[in-house]
Amino acid sequence: MAGPIVPPATIAFIGLGTMGAPMAGHLAAKGYAVRGWDLSEKARAASPVPVAASVAQAVAGADAIITMLPDARAVRAALLADDLLAAAAPGTVIIEMSSSDPLATRELGAELSARGLALVDAPVSGGVRKARDATLAIMVGGKADETARVRPVLEAMGGSIFPCGGLGAGHAMKALNNYVSAAGLVAAVEALAIGARFGLDETTMVDVLNASTGKNNTTEHKLKQQVIPRTFAAGFAIGLMAKDVGAAASLARGVGLDAPLAQAMAERWASAARTLGPEADHTSIARLLET
Ligand code: NAD
Repeated sequence: MAGPIVPPATIAFIGLGTMGAPMAGHLAAKGYAVRGWDLSEKARAASPVPVAASVAQAVAGADAIITMLPDARAVRAALLADDLLAAAAPGTVIIEMSSSDPLATRELGAELSARGLALVDAPVSGGVRKARDATLAIMVGGKADETARVRPVLEAMGGSIFPCGGLGAGHAMKALNNYVSAAGLVAAVEALAIGARFGLDETTMVDVLNASTGKNNTTEHKLKQQVIPRTFAAGFAIGLMAKDVGAAASLARGVGLDAPLAQAMAERWASAARTLGPEADHTSIARLLET
């Protein structure tokens, strides 16, 4: 069994978007030899880490491969691509840090294992702010020996690391976290709209919520910052939020639990992403209350 992956180990980082770019930058700053890759030329050009000429060159000889991609479909396309599979050495550990579907992750793990590659899921929470500060909360699923191997890599990007169980447990936890966060956001923006129509002052409402039991992440970090000034630029796309809430609702169905609020939230966020477009900021769901 190979030991912990510590600097100057080589890490291929696939997905240099909003989150991936600062995360890859922290790995490089902490002494890892990072080789970035992204399908988008724009993302490659803006990369804070050296970019490989191809995905095969990024993963060849790497000790670990990190994926930070939009969703389960993109993760599957990237990790089961022939050029990646041909270039990755057996025994390489893949750290899947996107927010993905826990059931799909289990299937993918079995397929990669048959090709000699280990999979650990390690999605993150904290948004761009915590990605930039390397203080992300990271939820980890996988075999204990593999998660122990990758822990130093995760510590280079995160402020708190939570082992959650076997493969898929990190993705399950992340989907459930975002369901709670998304439901909290909808409750907060609805309360604001109802209160404003009644004649309450919006800023006063936020101050009261934040000093009271209604406080949540949206009331603290999104109402005054994004919703009231109509900035709608928190840095997390509504399509990604819809995907996460959908994963939580599908997990509920998968375990045979009737969870009506999760199903209602999944429909609400999916419909908002269709109306506003998947690239719109997730906070702009508040706009739909204006009509
Ligand atoms: P993003 O769209 O900014 O970045 C994703 C990147 O993946 C893009 O640059 C895209 O070109 C690239 N990509 C897609 N398919 C690819 C492939 N097959 N090979 C190589 N590159 C490919 O998204 P993001 O905001 O950085 O989010 C990434 C993941 O992190 C998502 O699963 C998201 O749900 C999750 N997440 C985002 C936030 C946030 O605040 N933005 C917070 C926590 C978790």
